[in-house]
Amino acid sequence: MGRLNFKFNRRDFFKVAGAAGAAGAGGLALGSGLTAGKADAAPLMPQRVFGKSGIKVPILSLGTMWDTINNQIVLKQALALGVTYWDTAAEYHGGQAETGLGKFFQRNPGAREKVFLVTKASYARSTQDMTRLLNQSLEKMQTSYVDLYFVHGIKSVDQLWADSGRWAEQAKAKGLIKLFGFSTHRNMEDCLLRGAGLGYIDGIMMTYNHRIMHSDDMKRAVEACVKAGIGLTAMKTQGGGPIRAGGEAEEQLAERFLSKGYTPEQAKLKAVWTEPHIASLCSQMPNLTILRANAAAALDRTQLSAADIRALDNFAQATAGCYCAGCSGICENALSGAAPVAEVMRCLMYHESHGDARLAREVFNGLPREERLRLGSLDYSPAEAACPQGLAIGSLMRRAARVLA
Ligand code: SF4
Repeated sequence: MGRLNFKFNRRDFFKVAGAAGAAGAGGLALGSGLTAGKADAAPLMPQRVFGKSGIKVPILSLGTMWDTINNQIVLKQALALGVTYWDTAAEYHGGQAETGLGKFFQRNPGAREKVFLVTKASYARSTQDMTRLLNQSLEKMQTSYVDLYFVHGIKSVDQLWADSGRWAEQAKAKGLIKLFGFSTHRNMEDCLLRGAGLGYIDGIMMTYNHRIMHSDDMKRAVEACVKAGIGLTAMKTQGGGPIRAGGEAEEQLAERFLSKGYTPEQAKLKAVWTEPHIASLCSQMPNLTILRANAAAALDRTQLSAADIRALDNFAQATAGCYCAGCSGICENALSGAAPVAEVMRCLMYHESHGDARLAREVFNGLPREERLRLGSLDYSPAEAACPQGLAIGSLMRRAARVLA
């Protein structure tokens, strides 16, 4: 089959995500009142209950791995659109993302109370570390509490500490946090399943997208969390990987969804929302264009058809070799732990699929120096033989060592 003559330019994108028309049947467009409204005028953003906490959160949450100090207009518009779940971390944007949120709260009295504020303890090695990091985060964000506090980016619940539950209870009793949990983009299914059995986890944020949400393991893991009353937030919802999918498969997907009035990116968000137990979907939204497009997808009431879901499945299968599923227990065990393969693949995902070289380098340079230095010289053939996605791990790792250092 020949290549499709599909072209998608900036003007088309604005037509889809733009300012005219009602959010409802048909294509995805924002009503003009929503784009210009005040923070109070946000009644339409759908909400779901976050686990057993009973707290209602918007189905779309604002990821802030970007310069929140100099893009405060995005924060203001997020509030106006009802995107009032804000996710950040101590390390985001070189540690400056929390500072930007703090400046916003200071400049906009009353805004803090409208926001379900989430931050994460990055690189904590103990609960004492968490106390120190939490205090720093509160100071930077100019607030006395966070709604949800995560241990950041675990690959196994064994990384939590024996006194984590007690620490969470004490922090809650002091009014410093309302809920506690962890985020994970490696071995997510196992982390969810075992996290559900810990008894003190209120919320989990995990990689979750149209590529992996239908697997039996993931379904079982989500079900266990639902039974345990754990609120779930999906991230990495576009299913991007260390190789940009591109090509005919991507063009066909784009043509299909654009002909229905929305972008493939919006369709992928809608696919995640088909799972009712995902309380919120976190998306990096560093500018108004992406914020408005994602908000339009959240506000739109049309459902993906069975054929739409099949089209996404077909796309996932055709491009499986571009995606890293985060199953680091497989490839990293095959290398006896010599290289953080899944983390490096995540850096490449930022570089290749997101086109964000700054973020890719920031995360890459956060890896231990000795690990980074040996990346280019290891034999990755045992990992490649084990990888269920069939990724060319060796050449990708060498590429990462070359372009991200
Ligand atoms: S490289 Fe392969 S085995 Fe390793 S985490 Fe990614 S998909 Fe899993």
